Amino acid sequence: MVPAPFAVSAKRQDTADTWTLELQPRAGARLDFAPGQFTMLSAFGAGEVPISISGESDGEGPLVHTVRAVGLATQAICEAPVGEVLGVRGPFGRAWPVAEIEGADVVVVAGGIGLAPLRPAILALLARRERYGRLLLLYGGRSPEQLLYTDELERWAQQGLEVSVTVDSAGPEWLGHVGVVPRLVHRAGLERSDAVALLCGPEVMMRFTVTALAQAGVGGERVYASMERNMQCGIGHCGHCQLGPTLVCRDGPVYRWSELEPWLAIREL
Ligand SMILES: Cc1cc2nc3c(=O)[nH]c(=O)nc-3n(C[C@H](O)[C@H](O)[C@H](O)COP(=O)(O)OP(=O)(O)OC[C@H]3O[C@@H](n4cnc5c(N)ncnc54)[C@H](O)[C@@H]3O)c2cc1C
Repeated sequence: MVPAPFAVSAKRQDTADTWTLELQPRAGARLDFAPGQFTMLSAFGAGEVPISISGESDGEGPLVHTVRAVGLATQAICEAPVGEVLGVRGPFGRAWPVAEIEGADVVVVAGGIGLAPLRPAILALLARRERYGRLLLLYGGRSPEQLLYTDELERWAQQGLEVSVTVDSAGPEWLGHVGVVPRLVHRAGLERSDAVALLCGPEVMMRFTVTALAQAGVGGERVYASMERNMQCGIGHCGHCQLGPTLVCRDGPVYRWSELEPWLAIREL
């Protein structure tokens, strides 16, 4: 429960309201984590919130978080200047099953800030590119200005990731797809594959994506989704993040969709 002090060593503005921060421990070793895990990140005096780790899980790099400023704590984290100390607890939660799905085609589906928790998985898949079949990223944002990691999308494509991007609306200068993410699933040609899907984004987007995947023959037992719920402790004690009989901080945030389906069918659970 005691936060470790991490200093902001670098920061970059991704979009109007989203920043990527690199953090270095003030003492001790780098944080070991698996793609999909999160930390409880605090700006002292402002609050503590769950934030997924968006950096590379292999190697000796800093702890990386991509944060959208939506309220008190996230605003303070995004405003922290280089040198400021933030609190870090974790890593917590169940990770993306990147090793278990070796040999399969993998379709990564992200909406908005949902690309941040998926970035470590994408980097891990590309680091062992030869162990997987087709690798696809289907990514949707509200507008071209709100897309994350745009400089990296091209690099990932060169490394063997089939990247498709769509936005809800755009000006005439945008030459890419316009429309919702599930439409990209229909264009992806998954029908004859044994694909596994990794999903993160707004819940409504994930529900429609799951329907589109099922139509393409990818059933809920081959779909993994990262869930968001209000979290306070991060370690399965407080019960705030309960989802059915599970606690998202401990049993998630990554779930197999078929595990979740019965609980998501209950309104407002
Ligand atoms: C496992 C997990 C991983 C997450 N990873 C990331 C991440 O990588 N990057 C990131 O930017 N955010 C992430 N979030 C969401 C982040 O935790 C919330 O945005 C944060 O808790 C909001 O706190 P606040 O004090 O800034 O805002 P508050 O003052 O609590 O709320 C401000 C506004 O945001 C809304 N809000 C509050 N919590 C959420 C939420 N969980 N989802 C959507 N809207 C919310 C409120 O309804 C309110 O309108 C993650 C959440 C979870 C559970």
